[in-house]
Amino acid sequence: MQINFDNKINEIIKILALEAERFGVKIYFIGGLVRDILMGKKPLDIDILVEGDAIQFVQFLGDFVQIKSLHKDFGTIKTQISGIDIDFASTRKEKYPISGCLPVVEKIGCKLEEDLIRRDFTINAIAVRILPTLEYQLIDLYNGCKDIKSGILRVLHKKSYIDDPTRILRGLDFQLRFNFNFCDEDKKIIKEYLKNPNREGLSKDRVVLTLKKLFSSNERALFALEEFYKKKYYKILYDEFYIDVNKFKSSIALFNVEDFGKVCLSYIVEIRKEQAPTLKNRFEIYKYFSNFSDVDLCVYYLKTEDNNAIIYFKELKNVQVYLKGSDLLGMGFTQGKIIGFILDKITEVKLAKNSTVISFEDEVNFVKNTFKL
Ligand code: ATP
Repeated sequence: MQINFDNKINEIIKILALEAERFGVKIYFIGGLVRDILMGKKPLDIDILVEGDAIQFVQFLGDFVQIKSLHKDFGTIKTQISGIDIDFASTRKEKYPISGCLPVVEKIGCKLEEDLIRRDFTINAIAVRILPTLEYQLIDLYNGCKDIKSGILRVLHKKSYIDDPTRILRGLDFQLRFNFNFCDEDKKIIKEYLKNPNREGLSKDRVVLTLKKLFSSNERALFALEEFYKKKYYKILYDEFYIDVNKFKSSIALFNVEDFGKVCLSYIVEIRKEQAPTLKNRFEIYKYFSNFSDVDLCVYYLKTEDNNAIIYFKELKNVQVYLKGSDLLGMGFTQGKIIGFILDKITEVKLAKNSTVISFEDEVNFVKNTFKL
């Protein structure tokens, strides 16, 4: 197999392979890197799988490597070598005592085959052995190459989605990114799983992390949302869930939100039904929404249809008071509650429709005309 890295990376990889031989471990490329190369894409990250203990191997490498962080329980270590980020992982065997929980590591430094079986799809379970001669040897135990060619997503064993239902969402991500499709067998298993998902031990953090990745691209966010709803993938998290994609589109336009993905993510993850509070006037609306980002406003509106969110966004959001407490003290007012009171009154008058108090000078005049020293 041929892999064309630039010279600097080739040099580093050659040294790593020689050192691995001296240390007595085999090293591999794996996962997304191999998949991307086989799909003719330029790999983004360099990940190296060590058939053994990656942390000990990196320590053996000494000054050649700068350690950035390590995760002892998972046997993973992030490094930088001559300015290039390289992540090392130990081969590991995992088990899932409860459906959807975080995996428990049974063994670090297991055989390559045992590591491959814990992976999500055949397309991500292709290993490439790195030899010191810079020759690359393809190890494709699960016909991942064939699945890449046919654009097929296939898990490695029947219990895979039950162990980790986030694989359904990872699959959707690959579907949208690469135009891949779940194989018929997987479609059936997913459908069955979604009929009766066991959420008792579900790691919500892991689901959220996977959703974050799924909704990280604006281009794909609305498609992802549509599929998430249509295919009932929301059942991974909830029994019932409703999404009106057209309403999403119009609200996103209404609040001028650039990051659709963030709206989708927040809408899905923050399931609580917002209750629109009773806000009596423009000042109360202003105060209530003042800490909302445009994404928050859009999500709030999608959940409540509260027109106050639109009033805030269109008419109040940019109202600003220029006078500071220190200015008021400079004008002769004394420290205390009165300062906050006056600032609130300035805000209130500026929020009124067709307010004539606009500039700093207008505010000063308003204070002079309204409050006695
Ligand atoms: P990309 O970074 O392009 O999205 P990737 O496959 O490299 O793709 P990562 O999330 O970085 O994505 O995962 C690296 C590898 O770890 C995967 O290729 C896969 O082999 C394995 N992996 C990641 N998440 C899971 C999971 N939930 N279950 C099983 N294996 C996983």
